[in-house]
Amino acid sequence: MKPADIRTRAVHAGREDLADLGVHAAPIDLSTTYPSRDSRAEALRLDGFGSGEWDGGLPVYGRVSNPTVERFERALADLEGLPAAVSFASGMAAISAALLAVLSGGRRHVVAIRPLYGTTDHLLGSGLLGTEVSWADPEGVRRALRPDTGLVFVETPANPTLAEVDLADIAAQAGDVPLLVDNTFATPVLQQPARQGAAMVLHSATKFLGGHGDVMGGVIACGDEQAALLRRIRFATGGVLHPLAGYLLLRGLSTLPLRIGAASATAAVLADRLREHPGVRAVHYPGHQQGRPSDQMASGGALVAFEVDGDPHRVISAVRLITPAVSLGSVDTLIQHPASISHQIVDPEQRRACGISDRLLRLSVGLEAPDDLWSDLDQALDQALDQAGNAAAG
Ligand SMILES: *Cc1c(COP(=O)(O)O)cnc(C)c1O
Repeated sequence: MKPADIRTRAVHAGREDLADLGVHAAPIDLSTTYPSRDSRAEALRLDGFGSGEWDGGLPVYGRVSNPTVERFERALADLEGLPAAVSFASGMAAISAALLAVLSGGRRHVVAIRPLYGTTDHLLGSGLLGTEVSWADPEGVRRALRPDTGLVFVETPANPTLAEVDLADIAAQAGDVPLLVDNTFATPVLQQPARQGAAMVLHSATKFLGGHGDVMGGVIACGDEQAALLRRIRFATGGVLHPLAGYLLLRGLSTLPLRIGAASATAAVLADRLREHPGVRAVHYPGHQQGRPSDQMASGGALVAFEVDGDPHRVISAVRLITPAVSLGSVDTLIQHPASISHQIVDPEQRRACGISDRLLRLSVGLEAPDDLWSDLDQALDQALDQAGNAAAG
């Protein structure tokens, strides 16, 4: 019997065989190669790997498969409610593999909704891998489809504005074209896009899945056929997840529901207090936006975006407890200025057009006490406001 509650599955998925193995922690297998005395049998298996089929037998070579990494993949697939998952060295390696999969299917057109993570925007917009993008509004996805469209790509909530799109509606517009959802911000704890019809669910595992700011990885949960293609691409291009990263990500998953629950509760408190601060013009927090699909996300999540009146750079330099750094999803709270850091690479005009104002700050809430975080934010916002006031007076 499979337990339904995600808190239970987060602790047990990928570890089903441990008691029978007589171990408690998942074994870490660092082997790059695996001995075999039967080369004829290996040859047959390698034929299979070349086409992305993995027979689940003994490993052969570290770029083909790794038992520790496979535990993480099984667990993440379970949490996302999809048959399989394929992991990569980083979120961008996963996104690259998804685009190469489009190309290998003989298509090259991708429909995407802005905003997206800055480097994803860059990879799609630059056509670096040979794909071509059409940027669509959430209502205009169907109109943007072409006969050679191989993928619809969305993030919800989006990095960094936390704008939400209605996934069931996007999936309906996409029709037969696979919908890929970057679920990095919500995590499977708050949202499982497969329920709304996403064919592929992607994570920068570097963020909440690892959860402690000390491991990079990416992963795509999907159907078995798509997984075979992604494994084949990974096998041929080499962007594999390191086994130690696989171990840390599996361990991270076990506390994911607790971490997301605590951080989201604090984020909701901070969003309310930010709304009251005289130095804050606007707060963007999921659930407070109009037109939010009500059953899509279980809570507002652990990120808050807000626009300040004063100099946003001043806020970044004034925080003392909060870590002034890019990235998100760690146990400590991080703040960054998207226009100059995470989305610096996006054309400034396009950036502003999709809601990334130069005054926007993005806060990734961690596990500290809400009052301590608020004291720090409050004094940093006051400093920025004072400076703005002095500048106006002088
Ligand atoms: C960070 C991030 C990525 C890229 O992931 P890396 O692990 O840094 O390569 C992709 N999408 C979103 C939403 C992100 O926040």
